[in-house]
Amino acid sequence: MNEQKKDAALPAASGRLPEQSANRRQASQQAAYPLHIGQQPLNSPEDLRAIHEAISEGKNPLEATDVPRWEDQVGVNRIINRRVLELEPLPTPAQVLSSLPLSQQAENTVAYSRDEIRACLYGQDDRLLVIVGPCSVHDPKAALDYARRLSKLKDELDDQLLIVMRVYFEKPRTTIGWKGLINDPDIDGSHQIRKGLLLARRVLLSVLDTGLAAATEFLEPTSPQYISDAISWGAIGARNTESQIHRQLASGLSMPVGFKNATDGSVKAAVNGCYAAAQQHTFFGIDHLGRASAVETLGNPDCHVVLRGSSHGPNYDTQSVTQAMTDIRAMLPADSAAAHGLIIDCSHGNSGKDEHRQAQVVRNIASRIAQGERGITGVMMESFLEGGNQKPAPLDRLVYGRSITDRCLSWPDTEQLLRELADAVSQRRWNE
Ligand code: PEP
Ligand code: MN
Repeated sequence: MNEQKKDAALPAASGRLPEQSANRRQASQQAAYPLHIGQQPLNSPEDLRAIHEAISEGKNPLEATDVPRWEDQVGVNRIINRRVLELEPLPTPAQVLSSLPLSQQAENTVAYSRDEIRACLYGQDDRLLVIVGPCSVHDPKAALDYARRLSKLKDELDDQLLIVMRVYFEKPRTTIGWKGLINDPDIDGSHQIRKGLLLARRVLLSVLDTGLAAATEFLEPTSPQYISDAISWGAIGARNTESQIHRQLASGLSMPVGFKNATDGSVKAAVNGCYAAAQQHTFFGIDHLGRASAVETLGNPDCHVVLRGSSHGPNYDTQSVTQAMTDIRAMLPADSAAAHGLIIDCSHGNSGKDEHRQAQVVRNIASRIAQGERGITGVMMESFLEGGNQKPAPLDRLVYGRSITDRCLSWPDTEQLLRELADAVSQRRWNE
């Protein structure tokens, strides 16, 4: 940054703003920002355009533009937020929830399905919990198309399977890549988070309208305030299972939460996650008005382990399940959800992210369930309309209904596998 230029623009010690900033503030106050009730955006749309133009020309906008930023206004520009380009206020959770509320029917679906999932987790319901759907949602239309098909099949197989749709909006990356619909809804690096948040919520409402319950991975610590009222099952992913932030978050979530084993295969990390999330915590967060808050939680007793394989290979076999259950029972109460059983993720490290191997894993589990193997409460499958995957790109350059993150089972294969899982549950009942 050009220090001289910046220093010259510094407000006097009284905190009075320089003329230009004051003008800009006035201009932006006058602009119509319906979602900024009681709040003033940092920069006007013209300022933001200048910033983005500089970036697209390969310039450093901190030097190339004369745009006031937050630190200019509070007079601490030499030391604070030196690498933050922009802080763009988002609508508050309360604003988003009230502009896109759950219908009475959707609320019933969420409340009822959370109870059904709990009943499966504690063994009071002997159906198999099946969490199935795309690795990520990138196209609301295709997601709804998928939801309609899955909803029909759910009704048909409801006696044997408790089907919940994967509706994943936040993708944790091993290095870099598309971070999901909330972070970048246009899949072009423009990162329209405000648009992504609203779009994600609309997708959830439309999935709930089909009668299906939704599962998602929680990644950002503040985003759950915007969508978690519509979620019936949550995941803490393999890359975050050891993170205190995510364990704290899970301790306050209203639905059951599955902790994945770590990417290196550590099941202990997930067991510790379940233990930690069951306790009370106090931590930094935001409230429904977006205010920084000390959040005090009760603890979530409905956490459980998800075996997803690892960089060293799969862990869906009987021996891995038995070993995991021994480790879980050594740490968690005998009457906890986790001690009753676990979920096997048939994709990811258990399939080498190959959808054909994923199908083999599902069939292997179906045959073990049919034979009465204990400890498997549910399965997770990655599935979409088309099989496989494709590189992320804006929607008009993509094949409809094909994943832009992990490879997925096709719809016909998914349908066949779900029927086989349902048959396996019937077979188990028959043998008992
Ligand atoms: C996923 O469910 O798509 C995912 C990223 O899972 P994991 O955390 O197991 O890699
Ligand atoms: Mn995935």
